[in-house]
Amino acid sequence: MGGGYGGATAAKYIRMWSDGKVDVTLVERDGEFISCPLSNLVIGGSKGLGDITVPYSGLDKWGIRRIRDERGTSILMTEHVMAAVMSLCEHVVVLEAGKLIASGVPEKDRFQRVLELNADDFRFDAEYPDLTARRTDDFVLIEILFSVGRSVKVKKKILADIVGALSKGPGLNPENVMVCFKETLWENWSFGGGRLIHA
Ligand SMILES: Cc1cc2nc3c(=O)[nH]c(=O)nc-3n(C[C@H](O)[C@H](O)[C@H](O)COP(=O)(O)OP(=O)(O)OC[C@H]3O[C@@H](n4cnc5c(N)ncnc54)[C@H](O)[C@@H]3O)c2cc1C
Repeated sequence: MGGGYGGATAAKYIRMWSDGKVDVTLVERDGEFISCPLSNLVIGGSKGLGDITVPYSGLDKWGIRRIRDERGTSILMTEHVMAAVMSLCEHVVVLEAGKLIASGVPEKDRFQRVLELNADDFRFDAEYPDLTARRTDDFVLIEILFSVGRSVKVKKKILADIVGALSKGPGLNPENVMVCFKETLWENWSFGGGRLIHA
C-alpha cells in the first residue's frame, strides 16, 4: 500500500499492536511524505514545503520495511543511517572517496557461540515438522540474532549459504541443520562500554 496518512498509520499500528510479530513492508513510490493537510500554509507563505515534508525513515523504529517502488524495479540508495539502509537494501557496499572499501557484512562483525551438548541437555524430535530424513546425533541448531528488517530473500540466501557450507565441510545432511532467525530492534545493541551504537 502507499505510505500516505492511511498506509503509514496502518503499517505502524500493525507492527505496534502485534508486538512486532507481523512483518510489514510498505510500498511507496516517493522518498518522503509531503502532507496535504497544512499545505494551505505553504501556499499562504507562512510555512515552507520542508515544514510539511516527513522522511519515511521515521518508520524504521517500528521495524517497518520500505520499498520505494511501484513496478518492481531495483534502486540504488545512498544513506548514512544504518537502520534505514538495512531495512531496505539486500546488498550493502561502503564507498570512501568513490572507492569500494567494504561490501556485505563487515568481516569483523563476527560473534559466535558454540555449545556442544550431550543428549541429556539437548532434546529434539527426530522428524518434526517436515523432515525427509531423521535427525541424528549430528543435529545442529543454529540461532541467528540480528537487527530487524532483513528481507525473506536475504534470509533464504543466508540459509542456502549455511546449509551448503555445512554439507560441504563436515558433510552434514541438510536435514540435520535447523536454523532460527531472531530479530531485535536496531537500538538493542551495545557492543561495549554501555554505548548503544545504533541509537
Ligand atoms: C490540499 C489538501 C488539503 C487537505 N487538508 C486536510 C486537512 O486539513 N485535514 C484532513 O483531515 N484532511 C485533509 N486532506 C485530505 C487528506 O490529505 C487525505 O484524506 C489523506 O491524505 C488520505 O490519505 P491516504 O493514505 O488515503 O492517501 P495519501 O495520503 O494521498 O497517500 C497515498 C500514498 O500512496 C502513494 N502511491 C500512490 N500510488 C502508488 C503506487 N502505484 N505505488 C506506490 N505508492 C503509491 C502516494 O505516493 C502516497 O504517498 C487534504 C487533502 C488535500 C489534497
